[in-house]
Amino acid sequence: MKTTPQDNGHPSTLIVPNVIDGQERESSHTYASRSPSHRDDVVTLAPLSTKEDVREACQKPRAAQRAWARTPAPGRAQIIGRLGQLLREEKESLSRFVSREMGKPIREARGSVQEAIDTCDFFQSEGRRLYGQTVPSELPNKELFTYRRPVGVVGVITAGNFPIAVPSWKIVPALLCGNSVVWKPSDDAPGVGALFADLWYRAGLPRGVLSVVHGGGKDGAGQFLIEMTDEQLLDKISFTGSTEVGRMVGEACGRNLKRPSLELGGKNPLVILADADIELAVDGALWSSFGTAGQRCTSCGNIIVDRKVMPQVRDLLVKKASALKIGDPLDESIAYGPFINERFLERWVAQRSVGIEDGANLLLDGKRITPGNEPANFAGNAEKGLYATPRIFDHVKMNMRVAQEECFGPTVNLVEVDGIDEAIEAANGTQYGLSSAIYTRDARAMLRFKEEITAGMTSVNNSTTGAEAHLPFGGNGASGNGTRESGIWVIEAYTRWQCVNVDLAGKLQLAQMDLEDAAPPEKPDWSALVR
Ligand code: NAD
Repeated sequence: MKTTPQDNGHPSTLIVPNVIDGQERESSHTYASRSPSHRDDVVTLAPLSTKEDVREACQKPRAAQRAWARTPAPGRAQIIGRLGQLLREEKESLSRFVSREMGKPIREARGSVQEAIDTCDFFQSEGRRLYGQTVPSELPNKELFTYRRPVGVVGVITAGNFPIAVPSWKIVPALLCGNSVVWKPSDDAPGVGALFADLWYRAGLPRGVLSVVHGGGKDGAGQFLIEMTDEQLLDKISFTGSTEVGRMVGEACGRNLKRPSLELGGKNPLVILADADIELAVDGALWSSFGTAGQRCTSCGNIIVDRKVMPQVRDLLVKKASALKIGDPLDESIAYGPFINERFLERWVAQRSVGIEDGANLLLDGKRITPGNEPANFAGNAEKGLYATPRIFDHVKMNMRVAQEECFGPTVNLVEVDGIDEAIEAANGTQYGLSSAIYTRDARAMLRFKEEITAGMTSVNNSTTGAEAHLPFGGNGASGNGTRESGIWVIEAYTRWQCVNVDLAGKLQLAQMDLEDAAPPEKPDWSALVR
């Protein structure tokens, strides 16, 4: 990797290569990743990989994977432990780079690097488990065992909103389990991707085991990587991103009989019942809806409120949302920063008229912040950054498009319901099923919600967002195919089970056939004991 200074007052530009067959490969065709808080800041120049680059990146790691799989799992895990240590050492600079490249507020950026550290801590010790089982045989002098084996060469494609935590959720367990990885980082954060890969190599990972190909999605490195499934060069794809692209990954894996991991979009509900602590619930709703400018897969899309407390919730939410400090992601005091890219901003701008057409009431009219219309609490560069104020729709019905479609920006809807039954029906009323939350003091309502909500993740009296490295993360329906990230559960995604039988009988023994049923004892007659 190289850097080149900029003459506009911004830090240097990072020039990143692909890493193919353990070698850094520069490219004559590059694209610029620009900071969303200062569009004149070229943070990274990254290769626009060709299909041939991606094919080579997928062909080469097969041999490296076999050697890596022969390294004992505790040895593989030691490298993960070293990676965790390097992440700790570089936490502040890496977090600041994350904020610069994709606009995550610095406090959250630190949290996302910490999540990668926690993931390393967890999987370092998991390398000493990766347990198989001993299983009793139905035949004598015979032993049965199960082993976890690596899947092989895994393609990884990730989104830009969690450019370090989510890749760590995939790459750490995939490598721990003895696979090799070909990674296409998000085109919104290629520099973060390159720095993360560099830490892996510094930790001692054999370079050929982790390949990195940069570029875009459609007609770019992402699409080419999916196509490598059809060329039988990949054994699995692990994807985090939109439902639309997730379906393409699923189709390619399905027709090649591969098992993908799909972590996709969400339209996450947050329910506030009449007995809830309203102040606590509104704080949770605010963080869920507007944290990271609404650009989390777990962001709240619909706040579902019992009609008895709707006036209170409405007033408090508008008051608090209007007071949120928006601005430069490196400012420690902001609530949220910019859109990650123009695409997300444009989609969010267009969503305003969709809500109005559907008959929703624009309670708080969020707008793009431009020079001259900055709100009082704004602390960014309106000319160079992609900022917007919060938008709240009221009188939203679950059949409206704004209630159904993921928005991925600072918008939330208020949906009025009458009691727990209607609340659960509304919460389950979208195609998605990623995260969910309920605010109530009623233990029976909590129990019903936990049992009846179809989402993969549920919070009681907490926000819809948040994850821990040792808890399963993932969703159902349009939010994913049921695979999970993190904790022991993700190991299923990156291993296949092998069973082995060892016969010590010295003669051919056949299960089911060589079993002699003992003659059943004579049945006593109990008829004299009962009427
Ligand atoms: P996206 O699907 O457009 O892009 C994600 C990745 O896929 C990027 O690397 C991109 O380059 C690549 N890509 C895009 N189009 C492609 C194509 N046609 N073929 C192959 N690759 C392609 O997603 P996005 O809009 O950038 O990211 C936001 C989405 O990601 C949201 O829907 C969000 O909910 C979801 N997300 C989900 C999770 C989760 O864990 N469930 C986490 C983060 C983000």
